[in-house]
Amino acid sequence: MQKIQNYINGELVEPFSGKYIDNYEPATGQVYSLIPQSEQQDLEAAVAAAEAAQNEWAEMPMEQRSALLMKLADAIEAASDELAKAEAIDNGKPISFAKAVDSYRSAANIRFFANATTQFSSESHSMGNVGINYTLRDPIGIVGCISPWNLPLYLFTWKIAPALATGNCVIAKPSEITPMTAYLFSKLCIKVGIPKGVINILHGTGASIGGPLVEHKKIKAISFTGGSSTGKTIAATAAPLLKKISLELGGKNPTLVFADCDFEATVSEVARAAFSNQGQICLCGSRIYIERPIYEKFKAAFVSKVKKLRIGDPLKQETQHGALVSSAHKEKVLSYIELAKQEGGKILCGGGEVDVDGRCKEGYFVAPTVIEGLTIECRTNQEEIFGPVCTLQPFDNDEEALALANGTEYGLATSIWSNNLKRCHYFSRKLDFGIVWVNCWSLRDLRTPFGGVKSSGVGREGGFEAMHFFTEPKNVCFKY
Ligand code: NAD
Repeated sequence: MQKIQNYINGELVEPFSGKYIDNYEPATGQVYSLIPQSEQQDLEAAVAAAEAAQNEWAEMPMEQRSALLMKLADAIEAASDELAKAEAIDNGKPISFAKAVDSYRSAANIRFFANATTQFSSESHSMGNVGINYTLRDPIGIVGCISPWNLPLYLFTWKIAPALATGNCVIAKPSEITPMTAYLFSKLCIKVGIPKGVINILHGTGASIGGPLVEHKKIKAISFTGGSSTGKTIAATAAPLLKKISLELGGKNPTLVFADCDFEATVSEVARAAFSNQGQICLCGSRIYIERPIYEKFKAAFVSKVKKLRIGDPLKQETQHGALVSSAHKEKVLSYIELAKQEGGKILCGGGEVDVDGRCKEGYFVAPTVIEGLTIECRTNQEEIFGPVCTLQPFDNDEEALALANGTEYGLATSIWSNNLKRCHYFSRKLDFGIVWVNCWSLRDLRTPFGGVKSSGVGREGGFEAMHFFTEPKNVCFKY
């Protein structure tokens, strides 16, 4: 059985305790590799390695640091088929999606911040004849990056790239549910010659290594992506230690469809927004509100589109809808479908598990599920399900649509589908979300601020927002 290893001080190593946990392939339900269960001793070794590497990495000319990161991005791109296959096996997502989205973005993330570091500048504030202030933006030192399972290498690199580009050393913890591509990534770091100690990757559960990482006094900032309840725990731990935190958390994203939308394109894109990656993207639009005059027409076209999604073995090129990430997550999603029925919801399609024959017969497959007849107050429409489940509801006017969209504790992303320019601008201002897409979904420009409000997070990633997070501003004031 393949054993994943930690990456500490430039080397692949076993956990000090010798303890491993099982890693499952979601499409088959079988254990296929072992994950180090890292603990405090592993963390101390990683911190010592990062401390030893910090000064040289921070002082390295930015062109050189950028060139090394570019080599890493090239190595990811060259390995994109292998990484996509590993991601499909580890996560259950279709291999075509893993190649086009996960592998592609992992390389793009590193390349983007390798470039950004050569373009980064800081402010100066002139006081006329009196003097001048300028801002130094130095690396923080050692930072912790904790990532989730839904877009494993994509979100892992989205954090560590700006941290490294700005001259920090990183201790990263990928999700214990999908550790494989972070492990393959550590091999690429060795291959391209990232200096030892600059990146350290520790595997294991939140309790055994995530918590200690957040608590460690020498780790000065934590960038976290994951669930809102974990985010609150991390915030509570980090607050008395006065650590800088960036929290990218859950969502319950509304999609607003108006009668004047481009109908066919909207149906396709709204289905993509609801069910990409089996609905396991923080940005997925799971509450779909449709202006009443087109409700029935939209419902029929949408359900027909969703029913055509090809469910199957993630390793087959033609598969569009793969397995959910774990048995526990499958049970959670199924329990929400049951809850939706109890709350009076009508299942329009899907509604349960799907049998996939052959090697996948024990896999965690749930059909894309569309539900109608529920109100905004019910738990199905309030709580994040994070799976292939969406609800449809009609609305009668703009004010009602706004109230529905803003009516949960979350505020990550929303999309509006309409050709009325005035309305789109008005809604963009009034929607209480970190990201508003107009006539598109998940169209990404890596320079833009990325993150949510309310229970969806604290702080922003992306572009110079991330570069600012990973640097400490110091004002220098000169009197003439
Ligand atoms: P999770 O919160 O269970 O775990 C995320 C990471 O935190 C994992 O690596 C886990 O091991 C670690 N962790 C768990 N407990 C910890 C603790 N006490 N201290 C430190 N680390 C700990 O989330 P998940 O189930 O892996 O991911 C799904 C969630 O992530 C969903 O809520 C989804 O919306 C959210 N998400 C948000 C974004 C975003 O950008 N806003 C992106 C992707 C996923």
